Amino acid sequence: MLFLGLVDSTLIESLYMLSALIFILGIKRLSGVRTARGGNALASLGMAIAIIATMLVVGVKVNWLVLAGGIVAGTVIGALLAIRVHMTGMPELVAFFNGMGGAASVCVALAEVALDLTKQRDGALSSLGSDKAVAIAASVLIGAVTLSGSLVAFGKLSGKIKSSRIGPIGSQGLNAVMAVACIALAVWGGFFATGSGSIDLAHWGLAIVALLLGIGLVVPIGGADMPVVISLLNSYSGLAACATGFVLHNNLLIVAGSLVGASGLILTQIMCKAMDRSLTHVLFAKFGDDGGGSGGGADEYTSVKSAGPEEAAMILDTATSVIIVPGYGMAVAQAQHKVKELATVLEARGCTVRYAIHPVAGRMPGHMNVLLAEADVPYEQLFELEKINGDFQTTDVAIVLGANDVVNPAAAEDPASPIAGMPVLHVWEAQTVFVIKRSLSPGYAGIKNGLFERENTMMCFGDAKGFLEELIAEVKEL
Ligand code: NDP
Repeated sequence: MLFLGLVDSTLIESLYMLSALIFILGIKRLSGVRTARGGNALASLGMAIAIIATMLVVGVKVNWLVLAGGIVAGTVIGALLAIRVHMTGMPELVAFFNGMGGAASVCVALAEVALDLTKQRDGALSSLGSDKAVAIAASVLIGAVTLSGSLVAFGKLSGKIKSSRIGPIGSQGLNAVMAVACIALAVWGGFFATGSGSIDLAHWGLAIVALLLGIGLVVPIGGADMPVVISLLNSYSGLAACATGFVLHNNLLIVAGSLVGASGLILTQIMCKAMDRSLTHVLFAKFGDDGGGSGGGADEYTSVKSAGPEEAAMILDTATSVIIVPGYGMAVAQAQHKVKELATVLEARGCTVRYAIHPVAGRMPGHMNVLLAEADVPYEQLFELEKINGDFQTTDVAIVLGANDVVNPAAAEDPASPIAGMPVLHVWEAQTVFVIKRSLSPGYAGIKNGLFERENTMMCFGDAKGFLEELIAEVKEL
């Protein structure tokens, strides 16, 4: 293995450069539905090159058994998680992965501190300059906030954490105190504790307070604002990795971390725009408030009309234009193939079928696009909110399939609504609206949806997939 230690540093830097380039191309391809799968494969290739290059660097310094053990364990856990996770559980997995990124940054930074302290105890001088100590403080601070914040986001998305406080944690005042404490500890650890025996105290203290701060920052955020938080945490995990790159003097980690940080910030901005929220509003306006409502129970509705598959098929029989609005319920029911089948049947009868995709429909950005692509729905039939919202007025039937918050008129009409200002699909402007869902229960934001009581709305109660199966059979019989 000795040759590994003698590898030319130019070769290593070239490999790093190559993988950074591949990462950029991969991210570019991820931004399009058609090219996303290839982009993912490309980014994996970049990561493989990065791992090989890093192994060449550290080759002679590490225990190969430990290295191989880490790689095998990581690969097996990653593969199992990817295979087993349901499409609906993907956002939780993303939140978990963000958290693990943060954890890795904290561990590497604290390990550097421990290493330095051991050297000092053995009588050597500290090798931590202020530049490295500052990078360690940044790595610990951002990494720890990302770790605990992501785990809370994971808990919120999976419905395990519902409250907007955990004891006193979550209050605006305490968050401010913790933020100040973090800055003080980071300054102490970054500038004043270097070379002293108390360096570990500063950084461990910072890690603990930052972990609590991460919980305090994310716990009060809820309801419809969660997508923004997930992409922001994704960005944080990149920034933490970037700081760790400075700790390890590893150029690739700096570049890759910056890419994740920047793309996460861009996505956060896109999500904020899509939901008509400012980032400050998402992060601070909802302190002490879950952000979503707790209403929307069946008893809140007085005049709901319902239709079975037979009645719905009769209305569709005369329709010449249909817009399908998929939402989280389509993902839960895995009804994407049945939607495609219904569209094919309707098109064969001369009806124009299009799909309206809301940017936060489902539980992660692009959720609906991924599912519809899996069912081979032509990309040309998918329309973004701003492109199709004006067309509902001239549409015969809007089929709302397991969507709720993204078609709630309150967002457009009620300034007091928790989702006020969020752009929604104006399905109620279509001549007839079918809402296919199992009950009158609310969506993610937990609020009443006045669409269910509109004059032209028909509630089609049932599981999305089951109802579509019956509907397709009825349409075929006409
Ligand atoms: P919603 O969460 O508002 O509503 C989904 C609806 O699907 C529910 O009302 C539920 O009603 C119905 N449903 C569940 N299972 C089934 C089933 N098997 N068959 C038929 N219907 C079903 O979904 P939307 O997509 O409209 O909105 C997404 C929400 O999630 C937004 O508030 C968004 O902010 C939030 N969010 C989005 C993220 C993203 O990145 N896209 C990330 C995190 C949150 P019922 O139980 O009666 O069937």
